[in-house]
Amino acid sequence: MRGAINSGSIRLLWLLGLVVALICQIAEGQAADERKQLAFDAVDRNAEQMTAISDSIFYFGEPGMQEFEGTKLLKGTLEAAGFRVDLGGAGMPTNLWAEWGAGRPKIAIVTEIDALPSGSQTPLEFARKPLVAGAPGHMEGHNTHGGVASMAAFAVKQVMERYNLPGTVAISFGPAEEQLASRPFIVRAGYFKDVDAIIYLHIRDSLATGYGVQNYAAISSIFTFHGKTAHGAVNPWDGKDAVDAVELMDIGFDKLREHLRPTYRAHRTITVGGIQPNIIPDTGQIWWFVRDASMPDAKTTYDKLLKIAEGAALMTGTTWDVKYAASAWPQLVTRTIAEAIQRNIEMVGVPQWTDQEQQFARDFQKSAERPVVGLRATPEALGERRQSTSSNDNGDVSWVVPAGLLNFPASVPGIEYHEWHAAITPVSSISHKGQVVGAKVLAASIIDLLTSPELLEKARAEFLVESRKTPYFSLLPAETNPPVELNRAEMEKYRPEMRKFYLDKAPRFN
Ligand SMILES: [Zn+2]
Repeated sequence: MRGAINSGSIRLLWLLGLVVALICQIAEGQAADERKQLAFDAVDRNAEQMTAISDSIFYFGEPGMQEFEGTKLLKGTLEAAGFRVDLGGAGMPTNLWAEWGAGRPKIAIVTEIDALPSGSQTPLEFARKPLVAGAPGHMEGHNTHGGVASMAAFAVKQVMERYNLPGTVAISFGPAEEQLASRPFIVRAGYFKDVDAIIYLHIRDSLATGYGVQNYAAISSIFTFHGKTAHGAVNPWDGKDAVDAVELMDIGFDKLREHLRPTYRAHRTITVGGIQPNIIPDTGQIWWFVRDASMPDAKTTYDKLLKIAEGAALMTGTTWDVKYAASAWPQLVTRTIAEAIQRNIEMVGVPQWTDQEQQFARDFQKSAERPVVGLRATPEALGERRQSTSSNDNGDVSWVVPAGLLNFPASVPGIEYHEWHAAITPVSSISHKGQVVGAKVLAASIIDLLTSPELLEKARAEFLVESRKTPYFSLLPAETNPPVELNRAEMEKYRPEMRKFYLDKAPRFN
């Protein structure tokens, strides 16, 4: 009898415990939903401020390292919203880091706002019509990142204040993503040392996240050979031909190609190829990109390329030097953070497109000779993404801190980036609605990371498994400084004409 009573009470206690746990879980879920609702309200209330930021950056049209007006605008908006802003860190005048709060957990948004050379285009015009002929412009839509990232961080700040949440929310706007030029420097400067997780933000034609290793590792270097001039007919034996060395380097690498892993990519352009045929050239230059699925494999090929340069110099009696141009690790994206983001993607959903927006998208696709499919009506399903062979320098960040990835639907399916077509929609209502959805999902996902130690712990454990298999190393030579002169001449040439299109807005969140 005693035994029966005991087992009965134990069962009762167990049931009671289960009910309490269930109630706690529901309450916790409700609290989380309330917090997210507060963030969503902040986004809805400030939607016009957000898109004013993104639209202003579109018209600034600044390529990498020249994001002066864009970062000035972001600094003003974020400081007015109470954020601490560090502009010009890691040796780059347009490197912007903003944060609010104190201590851990510290969650950062990682993104960029640079435009592309020759990308100027009149919004909503299907025909090629630059705002300023030849000028740079946003033919990928990085301008939208400025609004979405700032908006989400502000919405998170509102929630942290209201609920007295500990921790820090940060944004890293890295310069010159299009030239793979800044993230290794930002990592080297230690900005991510006390960061617990990041979410990498990028425009897309769909609402999506994903996981796995994305993009390729890349190393970009410029090789210069130095020889001795002589008359090509009178005394060629006195010359040392630096362009012969360039050719031999090219031939040498072609002989190597057969013996490289099938995953490799390598491409080059001859940037100094001589003067005229009857002058033996004393300078020759060749610029190489070496890529692979992992950085150690790319580095192995790159080391062989250095040997080939040495051999080419030896054969021609020239000397040589190599200058680091850029590098990028592939992006390591954790499944744990992707799953959390996906839950928020499903909660928020894609924008409600109007019939006019769908019609516009179909007309656009037709005029650009792409499949006429309109805008996407559903988010993408969660899955492991295929690794692409292009590169993105934010990859370096993802090997020092656990990373998630969010794409928001602010462009038209089938319209590829890096061509002028893609500059038709970044300030359209399609882009604006996509930004609202993007800011909501981003804010909700940061709230999850700030408030769930289990989530952070699991993401870190997953990150450690991968990052221990391939420990991060920097490709930056010790003495190398960031290429801050990048795109300067182009920007100086076009800025006076581009200035006429500036929106002159000073967006303020409330
Ligand atoms: Zn991009």
